[in-house]
Amino acid sequence: MTTTGNNGVAASKTNTQPLWLLAEVTYRCPLHCAFCYNPTDYDKHTQNELTTEQWIQALRDARKMGALQLGISGGEPLLRDDIEDIVREARQLGYYSNLITSGVGLTEKRIQEFKEGGLDHIQLSMHDITEEINNFITNTKTFELKKKVAAMIKGHGYPMVLNVVIHRYNIGHIKEILEMAEALGADYVELANTQYYGWSLINRSQLMPTKEQIDHAEMITNEFRQKVGNKMKIFFVVPDYFSDRPKKCMNGWGEVFMIVTANGDVLPCHSARVLPGMAFPNVREHGLEWAWKESPAFNKYRGDDWMKEPCRSCPEKEKDLGGCRCQAFLLSGDAESADPVCTLSPNHHLIEKAIEDAKNPQLQAQPIVFRNDKNSRRIAAGEAPELVKEFHALP
Ligand code: SF4
Ligand code: SF4
Repeated sequence: MTTTGNNGVAASKTNTQPLWLLAEVTYRCPLHCAFCYNPTDYDKHTQNELTTEQWIQALRDARKMGALQLGISGGEPLLRDDIEDIVREARQLGYYSNLITSGVGLTEKRIQEFKEGGLDHIQLSMHDITEEINNFITNTKTFELKKKVAAMIKGHGYPMVLNVVIHRYNIGHIKEILEMAEALGADYVELANTQYYGWSLINRSQLMPTKEQIDHAEMITNEFRQKVGNKMKIFFVVPDYFSDRPKKCMNGWGEVFMIVTANGDVLPCHSARVLPGMAFPNVREHGLEWAWKESPAFNKYRGDDWMKEPCRSCPEKEKDLGGCRCQAFLLSGDAESADPVCTLSPNHHLIEKAIEDAKNPQLQAQPIVFRNDKNSRRIAAGEAPELVKEFHALP
């Protein structure tokens, strides 16, 4: 679709349109998930969140540009008390809106207001069938609450959409997790194997399952699919590290996704702020149209002009656009190199090493670094170099 746009070339020459707007309305969260993809330095963005009016303006601007799908996410979006206002505005503007929540903070009163305000969809995160692992991996006591919230969502006539992040601690329970989802009356279940960004990258050796475990989990998922048929749709998201080609990240940089973060930064992907030398636009200073079409940051990796070998002359480049820029940078230190997931990348050995490290009992046994404000402040202040030494730009 896009053929131009590099290093500040105006994207008005492109035909791209932000069909998806993800509003990361807050980075505050009562949970402390070990696999959280939020930035490790999120704490510095918890004091300067956009106001309700600024969010509503962002929704209007994105809709004018053609955005149709709105994700309301976080952190935990329900920690804000204006989600009802945002939902009502989204409905008036004609968005299909989706609240992405841990369930903490969802009450009968709020869900009733969401229903009346026109919220289309609620996606609830679940973690395991056991209270022990749910509470361990989130570092909270939320097991019972999640089941109650699931029933509340169903009771209000919403489709039941469950998201389960898969890692070493729950991958052995896939069948039981799917049985639980079926018992809760789930319509859609996403089994999202952990991708390694943010907190999950720091905890990679402690979270990563083996290839055999993933293959087994996929086999069980396929059997379960056959059993339930169309009654419950199950998505099994294959982890990057165990593929031989990367995904077309965000369906292409600045192609269809636009993310506005809690403090108003406008990003083409969740992790883009890790990339060096990039000045991302902020809605406090620039409109979304300028951010999308004209900003150097959105144009930097549009299309394929920026590529170097082996991607530049690769016959597969249209398929994956060289994979994820953030993953390339975080692992290799070179944002313009091929995603190390690709077996053709000169940095593929970094993925192989990570898979080997995850089998090392000593590394597996390291304490998990939970996502919390204290750890975020330590990492941001450079007080925990041992946690991030292996990776570039964390934070
Ligand atoms: S992954 Fe967990 S800690 Fe991170 S935002 Fe979601 S619920 Fe909160
Ligand atoms: S070399 Fe680059 S373009 Fe080719 S398959 Fe690998 S990542 Fe994709």
